[in-house]
Amino acid sequence: MDRDEIIRLLATTDADEVRALLKAADEARRLSVGDEVHLRGIIEFSNHCARNCRYCGLRRGNKALRRYRIPDEEIIELACGVRDAGIATVVLQAGEDPAHTTEHICRLIGRIKDATGLVITLSIGERSFDDYRAFKDSGADRYLLKHETASPELYRRLHPDSDHGNRIQCLRWLKQLGYETGAGNMVGLPGQTLATLADDILLMRALDIDMIGIGPFIPHPDTPLKGAAAGDLELVLKVIAVTRLVTGNTNIPATTALAALDPEIRLKALAAGANVIMPDFTPVHYKRHYEIYPGRSGVPSDIARVLAGLEKDLAGIDRRIGKGPGDRKSRSND
Ligand code: SAM
Ligand code: SF4
Repeated sequence: MDRDEIIRLLATTDADEVRALLKAADEARRLSVGDEVHLRGIIEFSNHCARNCRYCGLRRGNKALRRYRIPDEEIIELACGVRDAGIATVVLQAGEDPAHTTEHICRLIGRIKDATGLVITLSIGERSFDDYRAFKDSGADRYLLKHETASPELYRRLHPDSDHGNRIQCLRWLKQLGYETGAGNMVGLPGQTLATLADDILLMRALDIDMIGIGPFIPHPDTPLKGAAAGDLELVLKVIAVTRLVTGNTNIPATTALAALDPEIRLKALAAGANVIMPDFTPVHYKRHYEIYPGRSGVPSDIARVLAGLEKDLAGIDRRIGKGPGDRKSRSND
């Protein structure tokens, strides 16, 4: 699919054509990654952030947010909870917290690996090549760093004090170091066009990205983008569908941001090419302050109930919870 064809598909509002697109993506998902839905337990272990991304509620300029750091002992206990729930992968996510020295993160990774044997995914932003190598050597397996947008110009407007080229360089380093690497974008960023979205998809294909997070932009009232409109859910589904068709056997989550706008839409995303869900293991008294965008604390947090509900929902669409780590590389059809 070339850029013009992607733009044309994203632009279509013809109901039959949209239905056919989502159905084709669902079929491509079935053939390339099967019917299993892989779970990743996420722990949001700090909401301190040195950066000032104009869309994000964790930005350093947001003085209204109560900040927290979960102590290491408690993070390890939460990771044990992920393992005990039968989930093989933990995702450790945080703002770019200056307290997270390389040594601290390496020690934490080592302790979680020793205690749980889980596949460890980090999502703590832009670091140096040497940091990424040290994390890998300590036991990290995967890294999520959404590129946010393929447009350097739009990136500059959203991040006046950081550099698009560096973010893409980080993704190249992560691939080079052998991480399963995640990127992704927000749909509906102010100033974004369908051509930007097409470029996002083509960029991820060119970088051979393994995990792709696509979610709507949701305006946060304590950020400079508070007056902007939220991303359109149908467009998010179309971007997921085209991404599945273009990238084959990647892992694509039905993102929390989608569920925050519409709890029912998660199943629609799973029927439009997605194959991953990330249940949140952050205790609610922390999670309510991990307010990237509003609506997150409405996502239920009783994990046993979440998993039981999920199993039932998946059975209703002939899908099942995946066993094992659900990585991309080991698939025979790669
Ligand atoms: N600090 C790390 C980073 O930026 O890569 C990881 C945490 S950050 C909160 C995770 C993701 O949240 C970002 O990559 C961004 O796509 C998403 N995000 C931030 N603000 C958002 C908003 N207002 N609407 C939707 N997603 C948002
Ligand atoms: Fe910090 Fe990540 Fe939010 Fe940017 S998106 S302000 S780096 S937490």
